[in-house]
Amino acid sequence: MVKCSRCKKPAFTKLARHNASFCEECFELFFSRQVNEAIKKYRMFHKTEPVLLGVSGGKDSMSLWHYLHRSGYQVVGIHFDLGIGEYSYLSRKIAEDFAQSYALPLQIIALSETIGYSIPQIAQRIRHRSPCSLCGSIKRYLLNQFAFSNHFTVYATGHNLDDETATLLGNVLHWQTDYLAHQNPSLPSPHPKMPRKVKPFYSLTEEEISLYARIKEIPFITEPCPLSKKAKSLNYKEALNLLEKYSPGTKHNFFFGFLEKASQLFSSHGEVVLKGCEICGMPTTQKTCSFCKIMQKVHERKDDHVHSRTE
Ligand code: SF4
Ligand SMILES: [Zn+2]
Ligand SMILES: [Zn+2]
Repeated sequence: MVKCSRCKKPAFTKLARHNASFCEECFELFFSRQVNEAIKKYRMFHKTEPVLLGVSGGKDSMSLWHYLHRSGYQVVGIHFDLGIGEYSYLSRKIAEDFAQSYALPLQIIALSETIGYSIPQIAQRIRHRSPCSLCGSIKRYLLNQFAFSNHFTVYATGHNLDDETATLLGNVLHWQTDYLAHQNPSLPSPHPKMPRKVKPFYSLTEEEISLYARIKEIPFITEPCPLSKKAKSLNYKEALNLLEKYSPGTKHNFFFGFLEKASQLFSSHGEVVLKGCEICGMPTTQKTCSFCKIMQKVHERKDDHVHSRTE
């Protein structure tokens, strides 16, 4: 029988990258230490500061919500209802039910109500950009706007080590040095209208977070977003999983090595000057922000549609 590396009771899991086996109790201790150390090391937030948490309904964000709440942090969830059919219906329900059962504050931003269009409707009108790129720009914009109007200074997400290594691999393969400059578990606010962004789960793998969710019986949506099939990051994850299988610790070394040895080499590549968008006043590097450009295009296409029907 495999024994827990820490207390010698029967183990329930083996973490190959740490070359350690844990019983349930010691796994929870390992998990808490990883998160607490991340929060402390990067001075992410403290217990009296309200933290806005992006809640997608997936295992990472739901587990982070559960963890931060039970550790005594002041968390307000924010969920974007993207209007992606059954997927959006289920993820919203999971977030709402969880908030209700733990009496937690949750803000829902439904795209169809806030901007008048769902992600599939926008993607149908703007075909030269991937749905994920449009979705990312819109969510970032609405998030910054909400955080600014409601005086949140910090925004947390459930990104884990698998997400971070996949992003890193993509950025390195394409030498996107400006993105490399911004790849960090804690990003300071670049503008008074934008919160700082933190990732308390950055040192935990998907597998470890799944174990936590299982132990704590945390509900989450298991179906992936149907539009994610086109996301390149899934290919990078697959490639990294293969490397990890034959050489446990590859992801850990890749990402932590980057943070320790290479990240500062790119810091000057990420310097940007932000000014107010000429339409909405939110921060942007260009005259018109990405969100306003998307909305202009969506409205143009809508007009095209009306004209072609009346001709
Ligand atoms: S997979 Fe793409 S479209 Fe789906 S929620 Fe994520 S970013 Fe949006
Ligand atoms: Zn133990
Ligand atoms: Zn704008």
